[in-house]
This record gives sequence, structure tokens and C-alpha cells, in this order.
Amino acid sequence: MVNQIEPLISSSPIIWAPTTIEEAIERKKEFGSEAEFVSGSTLLQLQWKNGRKVPKNIISLEQIPTLKQIQIDEDKRILSIGASTLLSSYKTDPNLKDFTVICEALQSIAAPAVRNRGTIGGNIMGGVGDLIPLFLALKAKLLFHDERETYLVDFWNWLQHSQKKTAALLSAIQLTSDLDRTNSYSFYKKIGRRETFTAAILTVAGRISWDEDGVIEEANLALGGGDNQPLLLENTAYHLIGKKGDVLDWKGVYTSILSEISPAEDAFVSANYRRKVAANLMVAALQREFTSIGCGEGDTDEI
Ligand SMILES: Cc1cc2nc3c(=O)[nH]c(=O)nc-3n(C[C@H](O)[C@H](O)[C@H](O)COP(=O)(O)OP(=O)(O)OC[C@H]3O[C@@H](n4cnc5c(N)ncnc54)[C@H](O)[C@@H]3O)c2cc1C
Repeated sequence: MVNQIEPLISSSPIIWAPTTIEEAIERKKEFGSEAEFVSGSTLLQLQWKNGRKVPKNIISLEQIPTLKQIQIDEDKRILSIGASTLLSSYKTDPNLKDFTVICEALQSIAAPAVRNRGTIGGNIMGGVGDLIPLFLALKAKLLFHDERETYLVDFWNWLQHSQKKTAALLSAIQLTSDLDRTNSYSFYKKIGRRETFTAAILTVAGRISWDEDGVIEEANLALGGGDNQPLLLENTAYHLIGKKGDVLDWKGVYTSILSEISPAEDAFVSANYRRKVAANLMVAALQREFTSIGCGEGDTDEI
């Protein structure tokens, strides 16, 4: 039985509060485009205030316990983060504490009041969240449910090919649980107009892993945040994979990043500025790991 909260005034939406994924899907099937899934509603509230149409039916996912679970499958080496996991969960969930780059990213979003309501799933599905580049770099898979099936998709693949107006419910984000294995390095950097409580000018993230001889095996660099179209830098990966970390052609990597990304532009921050910031952040993060030398003068175009 799905709980229904009657609206106080007739123009207010009807709020449905299913307790299972199946019930939520059923509601979505029933009302189609006249219904919207809502998790913490921190992003949607902003968008509704800014003129986005409020749907006739709100399907709140808050009362579905299975969407709040974080699990580690040691055998399959999978970390599964429920879509309704709060952004503030890095403080409370013991399963997350070893995944430092995820905790760091969660902590960079908004302020405590928003983090106590906003969710990881809402951050991804909202399309502008700071977690998007992080999960691209970590090669996340998304577990979706719709009226026909349950399916697991590669996040980057889904971002490129899915119809953005999906009717599917995101139930979990799956990652490899050996994120912090030796011979690997992950980073996350967010640049905003102020240090906290502000939308990102841009967010970058990366994950590199290498073999026993120091040869890079995997290199995932990603950009996103705010108005920037999320991007996994596939061309730049070719400048890194197969090379030894300590003899990398940093100038080539830097130039490749500059040419691969096209960040957003607004009245305050030009696309060119964002491009240079992104390239400097990524190269500096990689150099810090692979060499003891900082961002070499003359090698990169300093901001
Ligand atoms: C003051 C303020 C500051 C903020 N600062 C930041 C910031 O620094 N960085 C940042 O990234 N964001 C920021 N946000 C935006 C927002 O808080 C976060 O992105 C948050 O993670 C959104 O989660 P939510 O649960 O509130 O999403 P909701 O608002 O509930 O939903 C967002 C979208 O996702 C869809 N959705 C939600 N859950 C699911 C699901 N399980 N399956 C399918 N679709 C779903 C909804 O239909 C909606 O389209 C800020 C918001 C505010 C109000």
C-alpha cells in the first residue's frame, strides 16, 4: 500500500511515499511525465523556485530503505552505494570511511544543512552535481529500474547515450572496492567562487593505476561541476596509458587536456580560464603523485 499525502491546496502536487522500489516504479508508470522522483529535493526546490514546472505527482523515495544501503561485497570487490544515501553519510557510515576520495568529495558539496537532506543519487540524476566527474573517474556503474527491467550500465556510456529525461529509478552506484589499492591514486578538486557553499566553477577528478614497473595501466580523468558538460577525457588517457609515471611528457599531457575540454562560460568566468584551471589542476595532481617536482615552470601555462 503506497502512502499518499493529500495536498493542502488544490494546485499543490500529490506526494506519493512508496516503501519499495516496485511501488515507486508502479507510480511512475501510472502518471508518466506528470510524476517526478524526488530524493532530498534540495536541487529540485531550487529549480522549482527558478521556474521549472512543479509536477502534479511527486514520488518521494525517502521511505524506501533499500535505497539507503551502502554495501561492500568482498568476493566481487564491489562497493554499492544506495542512491538515497545522504551527502553527509561520510560522517556516519563505516563502510565509506576507507574511501577517502569519496568522503572528500561529499564534504565539498554545499553546507551541512543541504548535505543532511541531499542525496548521492539526486546529485547524479540532477545532471549538474559535483559527484558526476568523480564517479566518471572511478568508472562507476549505475543500477536502474524501470517498468520493464533492472539494468546495470556504465556511467560514462549512459551519460553519452541515454535520453536525459529518463523514467528510470536509480537505485545504486557501483564501484570497485579496491579504490585505494597500492599502485593507484585518486583525486578530486573543486573550484568555486568561494571555498564552500557555492556552485562549482569546475570540478575535476581522476584515477590512475599502474603495474609493478610503474607503467600506467588505467587513466581516467574527468571534468564537470556546475554548468560544465561532464566529460571523461578519453584522448588524454592515451598520453598516459602504457607510459611510466616518472618519465611522462607533462607538456603533452597538459596540451591534450587543453584541447580535449570545452568548459562552460559565463559573464564572470571565461571558458579559457576554466580550461587552464582544469589542465593545471589535473597535471599538478598527477605530478604530485608521480614526481616530487611541482608544476614545472615553462612546462605548463600557469594561471
Ligand atoms: C544551497 C545549495 C547549495 C548546493 N551546493 C551544491 C554543490 O556545492 N555541489 C553540488 O553538486 N550540488 C549542490 N547543490 C544541489 C543539490 O543539493 C545536490 O546536487 C544534491 O545532491 C541533490 O540531491 P537531492 O537528493 O536533493 O536531489 P533531488 O532534488 O531530490 O533530485 C534531483 C534530480 O534527480 C532526480 N532523482 C533524484 N533521485 C533519483 C533516483 N533515485 N532515481 C532517479 N532520479 C532521481 C530528481 O527527479 C531530480 O530531477 C546545492 C543545493 C543547494 C540548495
